[in-house]
Amino acid sequence: MRRVAWIAVLLGGCGWDLTTSDGLVWLTTQRHVGPDGRIPIVVDVPANATSLQVVGEMGAGAQGYIETVTDASGDVPFVAKETWDGVHNRTNAGFSSGVVTMDWPIAESDGPLIAGTLRFDLRSADHGVDVPLTIAIKQDDDLTRGVLAVDLVYAGTLEGDPAVVAATEAALDHWRDIYAAIGIELDVVEREWDGASKLTSPGYGDADVYREALADKPPRSVSVLVIDRVTDVAGVFGVSGGIPGSLVPTDRSVVSVSVKEHAGRDGLFSAAEIQLYGETMAHEVGHYLGLFHPAELPVGGVVKSWDALDDTPECLTGNDCDARLGTNLMYPTPLCDTPPCTPQANVTRQQEGIVQRYVGVQ
Ligand SMILES: [Zn+2]
Repeated sequence: MRRVAWIAVLLGGCGWDLTTSDGLVWLTTQRHVGPDGRIPIVVDVPANATSLQVVGEMGAGAQGYIETVTDASGDVPFVAKETWDGVHNRTNAGFSSGVVTMDWPIAESDGPLIAGTLRFDLRSADHGVDVPLTIAIKQDDDLTRGVLAVDLVYAGTLEGDPAVVAATEAALDHWRDIYAAIGIELDVVEREWDGASKLTSPGYGDADVYREALADKPPRSVSVLVIDRVTDVAGVFGVSGGIPGSLVPTDRSVVSVSVKEHAGRDGLFSAAEIQLYGETMAHEVGHYLGLFHPAELPVGGVVKSWDALDDTPECLTGNDCDARLGTNLMYPTPLCDTPPCTPQANVTRQQEGIVQRYVGVQ
């Protein structure tokens, strides 16, 4: 849902270039990492804005993270160190990355976006590096429904394989149903990209290849790249380029999904595998829109970290989590001990709140 008239007045100064397109206000600039290892990113948030995304592209080899968020009243509602030391995952913006991506507010519990000065302190050890910064701001008068544009890209020759296309479209229908239940309609545009179909996870190599695949990414969309397989990690169904993922094209602005992994050893898609394929797309794009696993996999039999939401229980062991969270879309693994796999389509109200705040959701 969107409206465009609200923008214009505000947002002067501070050295930002301002444009409006696709229902968003875009602020862009370039800053360099100072001798103190910081870039202060100061945004004059317009009235009626509901959420925004900050993206800093650190450039070759450089890394950065958001150290703090400080609001107009001087409160500091996000401190990266708390996420390093804590057991509750809110955003990966507090961890070093070549592409710093932060949504604010992240969840309903962060409260509304307040007009006035909002400051993000970006930290980097790469002094003097120039960092292109982009801020996308949305105004959304209904955070219970929206439309998500999906840029579905078949890599290599996969679009020429009728079995792959049929399975992908059936899986898309399943994904559509899952997101419809949380008020999100998918607007999918399919295209072909004539490049490599065996790729690393985004952000872990193959940067140039991803950049090329995403050069034609439509604005305000999330790209899903259908590939043969992910090369750097065995047995991966799909992988997201970030939590959250960047709306602007970078070498990791993508969710990659593996056809081979879903089709299994026989290379044919059963109904159960199509269900899993649809849930993988819904799950990985869920990460892209800012969702964490409600509970991470146990370490030494004990679960040690969870999402930061109140309506996903804090289970303690593998069996406990399977029982209490195993049907949640963001559960870390499929549960397939007794085929077909347990459907994992449930999304809680607070998970929905995060997804609906993502700037890409119109
Ligand atoms: Zn996951």
